[in-house]
Amino acid sequence: MTNVNWDQVKTDMRAAIGAGNFKNWIEPLSLVGASEGVAHLAAPNPFVGDYVGKTYGDQIIYHLNRQGLAVQRLAFEIEGKPNTTVNGAAKPTVRKPTNTLADAQPDQRFTFDSFVVGKPNELAHAASKRVAEGGPVTFNPLFLYGGVGLGKTHLMHAIAHELGQRRPDLNVLYVSADQFIYRFISALRDRKMMDFKQHFRSVDVLMVDDIQFLEGKESTQEEFFHTYNALADQGKQMIISADRAPGEIRDLSERIKSRLQCGLVVDLHPTDYELRLGILHAKQEMFVNVYPGVEIVTGVLEFLAHRISSNVRVLEGALNRLYALASLVGRTVTVEMAQDCLSDILRASDRKLTIEEIQRKVSEHYDIRLSDMLGPKRTRTLARPRQVAMWLCKRLTSRSLPEIGRKFGKRDHTTIMHGVRKIDELRQSDSQISDDLELLRRALEH
Ligand code: ADP
Ligand code: MG
Repeated sequence: MTNVNWDQVKTDMRAAIGAGNFKNWIEPLSLVGASEGVAHLAAPNPFVGDYVGKTYGDQIIYHLNRQGLAVQRLAFEIEGKPNTTVNGAAKPTVRKPTNTLADAQPDQRFTFDSFVVGKPNELAHAASKRVAEGGPVTFNPLFLYGGVGLGKTHLMHAIAHELGQRRPDLNVLYVSADQFIYRFISALRDRKMMDFKQHFRSVDVLMVDDIQFLEGKESTQEEFFHTYNALADQGKQMIISADRAPGEIRDLSERIKSRLQCGLVVDLHPTDYELRLGILHAKQEMFVNVYPGVEIVTGVLEFLAHRISSNVRVLEGALNRLYALASLVGRTVTVEMAQDCLSDILRASDRKLTIEEIQRKVSEHYDIRLSDMLGPKRTRTLARPRQVAMWLCKRLTSRSLPEIGRKFGKRDHTTIMHGVRKIDELRQSDSQISDDLELLRRALEH
């Protein structure tokens, strides 16, 4: 049994995913125990276990790690049936060769094949590919940094996979900085420092993920520094990630910072629309097998790519949730359904684009007066731009139809709905309108 603070994990999860999701998915779970890197959670039924594993697995692991429980996988047990387990985020252990030091198996989902490359991440991808060739070390370390959910961990696992295939002779070790800390502290406590040193210094490739977690942990930093130097002296490749550039990690000793800066430092930029759409298409292909029979109408992926702008993990979680719910209720996924069942995510990533901003931009674009757009006149030259503005308000903000109606000169919500439908029709048949919409959307979103 483990004495990790599960209540704290729950509190953190609630803050991360909102009260509604929390109540549905996390509240019913309890932590049964942990062994060999696997946390065992009890769920009321297989569906909850399955869904939580896919949707929140990474987050739960993250928060468990933060509470000092070094696990890499979750397994769900169904209450009342202690022998049934459902693998949630658990992945099949495929390779068990000489080249890993057992601990964290790379996640089978995170390969170069499943990594979608776009402008914001092409450099990080190219550098990772180079390291994964396993040739002579040309830059050390490779330092990857960027905001949460932009693909750092994915790339590190992809490197581990590829090295495993190309250079099975190499010992590759991937750890999160949390695990490094945990292991270090355990080794101190159990008087096993020699084992610890031996373990970390006998690798050929060392990857440490999320190094910012070493902030303020001086004795762990000290040990990390020695490990780092010992490996660097032997010309071993290191791959380090953080959510910031080395210089911006505050409570990290200067000597570590300067070591980290001597290699190749590349950042993953926030995603752009094209990359997000590319990722969604790739994920869709994967989900087809997991949820056979679920259909997604055209426009849904575009909608998600527009509205969920920063974090790929959230984007992926949103698509997963749509699939899971659609397969549960046997429905086709539409934009309306997405708006309903993702309202929490959409609200959180709302860029606070206002209805007023949209109205102003559209009236400038069509060169009409704002007062005319909001006024009662119904001539075509005013009505069309007005409907375009209504459509953009509906699609780019989370305001309801009555709210939008009020801001369009107190119009009724059915008028707004009619306008939105009209534009939906026109954008299929009228290329001028669809060009206008695209142009305006871009202008408003940047
Ligand atoms: P980070 O470590 O930077 O916080 P992760 O590597 O954990 O982010 O990525 C979060 C999720 O988003 C993962 O499921 C990952 O597979 C996915 N992801 C991120 N970037 C891409 C990409 N370019 N192509 C495909 N999936 C991606
Ligand atoms: Mg990560």
